Amino acid sequence: MPDNAQQFASDNYSGICPEAWQAMAEANQGHQRAYGDDDWTARAADHFRSLFETDCDVFFAFNGTAANSLALASLCQSYHSVICSETAHVETDECGAPEFFSNGSKLLTARSEQGKLTPASIREIAVKRKDIHFPKPRVVTLTQATEVGTVYRPEEIQAISQTCDELGLNLHMDGARFSNACAFLGCTPAELTWKAGVDVLCFGGTKNGMAVGEAILFFNRGLAEDFDYRCKQAGQLASKMRYLSAPWVGILQDDAWLRYANHANHCAQLLAKLVEDVPGVSLMFPVEANGVFLQMSEPAIAALTARGWRFYTFIGAGGARFMCSWDTEEARVRQLAADIREVMAA
Ligand SMILES: *Cc1c(COP(=O)(O)O)cnc(C)c1O
Repeated sequence: MPDNAQQFASDNYSGICPEAWQAMAEANQGHQRAYGDDDWTARAADHFRSLFETDCDVFFAFNGTAANSLALASLCQSYHSVICSETAHVETDECGAPEFFSNGSKLLTARSEQGKLTPASIREIAVKRKDIHFPKPRVVTLTQATEVGTVYRPEEIQAISQTCDELGLNLHMDGARFSNACAFLGCTPAELTWKAGVDVLCFGGTKNGMAVGEAILFFNRGLAEDFDYRCKQAGQLASKMRYLSAPWVGILQDDAWLRYANHANHCAQLLAKLVEDVPGVSLMFPVEANGVFLQMSEPAIAALTARGWRFYTFIGAGGARFMCSWDTEEARVRQLAADIREVMAA
């Protein structure tokens, strides 16, 4: 297959969607004020406030690792700790950045069920130690949609938030795939965040169809104090900020963010459907967002790789992750499904 053929390794293998590209082209006319004082950045922030139906504080960062790390750092002190699931991106894929940017706040991993934290698993970690020798729990972070493609229902988030209130914990949401969760549930962004008790959301743009960029939304605006300085110090203040913010205007203004998330989710459903009767293949997790996690045989995984398919196998022996994107072609999904069927029959 050609070098640039569509792959399913990650949703960030895709390129830039036309709406984001077009907005960048428009932002590229003439001069604009720098460091976020420009019109595009103001417009993007206003779009977020109207989409979320609330007067939140909005910031932009280059990537998810920075957005998550800086957001978490703003929710706690260095002697505090952050409760996350054992599969959380902040724990497994951010190279210690949350600890680094918070000057040492420790991540504490809690049991998760299908990638999701529960009030009980949070409580278990939060009350385990009360003494001065252990970092004091201060934040819970949950990922929506999760790293294994499942989605928290609004009532699950509300229950977690209630537990956070009881235990004096702030609630952060890693929304690298927030759009996919909104699309799956048919809920408004507000219902899945501040209305359910989320203090801060990192909303992923990259996997939604942008070149780069994540937005950080503080619903609890008191927690945003000096966040602009934190971004600047961490090297996350873009001087030509309009190129980070304009694409957001592009994907938010006519709901492209939701259309593309719906499309990616639909492709994942299609893939799951096409392989559901393949002998020896089973779903590892329910398909709720844009990822399909399949349990297959090791030789089949090797054969699929030999045929040129790229996908991740970090989930353990025989596990394969396939991610769909804003631009995934159905024909390509069908090719993949047909190849899975063949390698499993070999
Ligand atoms: C992709 C992703 C991020 C962001 O990763 P970066 O590579 O730093 O942009 C954050 N959280 C989750 C769950 C992700 O899948």
